[in-house]
Amino acid sequence: MSLGKDPWDNSLARRDAAVEARELLSPIREEVVDLLQSLVRIDSVAVPPQGNEARAQQVLLEKLLTCGVDAELYDTSFLAESEHRLVRHERDYRNRPHLIARLPGRGRGRSLLFSGHIDTVPPGAGTWSDQPFSGKVLRGRLYGRGAWDMKGGLVAHFAVLIALKRAERKLAGELLAESVVDEEWAGGGGTLAARLKGIAADACVITEGTGLRVVHATRGGFFLDIVAEAGDSSAYFSQDEVVSPAIPMGRLLAWVDEWRKRRKNVHPGETYKGFPDPAPVQVLALEANRFDPETPWSTPLQAKLRLYFQFLPHEDQDAVIHEVRTSFENFCRDDLFFRAFPPVWQPVVDPPLVGHELPVGHSWTCCMAEASAEVLGAPAVISAAEYPCDAFINQREFGIPTLLFGPSGAGAHNVDEYVEIESVLQAAEVLLTSALLWCD
Ligand SMILES: [Zn+2]
Repeated sequence: MSLGKDPWDNSLARRDAAVEARELLSPIREEVVDLLQSLVRIDSVAVPPQGNEARAQQVLLEKLLTCGVDAELYDTSFLAESEHRLVRHERDYRNRPHLIARLPGRGRGRSLLFSGHIDTVPPGAGTWSDQPFSGKVLRGRLYGRGAWDMKGGLVAHFAVLIALKRAERKLAGELLAESVVDEEWAGGGGTLAARLKGIAADACVITEGTGLRVVHATRGGFFLDIVAEAGDSSAYFSQDEVVSPAIPMGRLLAWVDEWRKRRKNVHPGETYKGFPDPAPVQVLALEANRFDPETPWSTPLQAKLRLYFQFLPHEDQDAVIHEVRTSFENFCRDDLFFRAFPPVWQPVVDPPLVGHELPVGHSWTCCMAEASAEVLGAPAVISAAEYPCDAFINQREFGIPTLLFGPSGAGAHNVDEYVEIESVLQAAEVLLTSALLWCD
């Protein structure tokens, strides 16, 4: 069915699609939850430069093949030879395969790509209530690292292909679904590899956990270390002045705070209107000696600061970073200590992630919003992401209109991460409804 001009036709088409989506998915509800649980139980942690995604990809592949879905793994280590400027050459892509699954169309329909990453961050230093990879189900929530970020969304999108295949229901356009690696830690290498491989579609949805909101914009992100080295290890226990970067680092924090206040007042545009802090500046880590019992009491010789600047999609990100850097150089020049011991400006990931935005009125945004409203029985919530991600690679580098849509949960990158199971199934229904409306 195509979205005709007649609003009555449209609303009928939407209702039919949502009813069909529910009918197609209801027989596989339990299977979907089982698949999610087994994927959460598999450690697919990535810590740059490496990633441990291969086993989870293999399990996903076997499930899809068992269901008769055309799927395969492909190698991503070709990135090492790529000259694309976004390749993170310091990362290792060996034994980090991608999964691509396809439902060929009957022809002459628009194609659609569901995309998601299978890598997760590690469990972290905090104390979990249960094992980090338990996959435990409690009061409608499935717990474990990666449950919400983003195995819940991944399983929702592969469920769509399984449901269509099981019913031998063919859409007019091709439906593609992928599971990529290296998204965490400001990676994007996986998504870049997939696009360089030539996998493309007329529209894409990344199934990150958006709490069932249709997310049409993402922010850019710049991660920066500032490293101050000063002092002389022989000065301690001597009559010389003990020089340490620890207290000057406090002044540098005040400089960061100035930038935080300044960025808080950036014009948020229509897209980030209503965000109290539309372009946050955060301190991610601060180090000057350690508190562990093995560290002798002494003044630190080095102090480090890890900063995280975010940018709105409409901003000229390079120009802002340039401005921050000039301000940093001026600050150091005006500070007696830092003039003598200039700290080092060290970007953590280079080039940084940039934001993206698909207009609210774009046909793909409208399609997902309509599918969401029809399935969830309430007007779609169209909003902007509180984080940067790989969406810009699809849209800005490869011209594929890209949205984010996925389940509800909490605890991403923290302890006790969980995904709401019902929302995974609802996300699958919205995704299938949107595929029926877009591709058919
Ligand atoms: Zn994610």
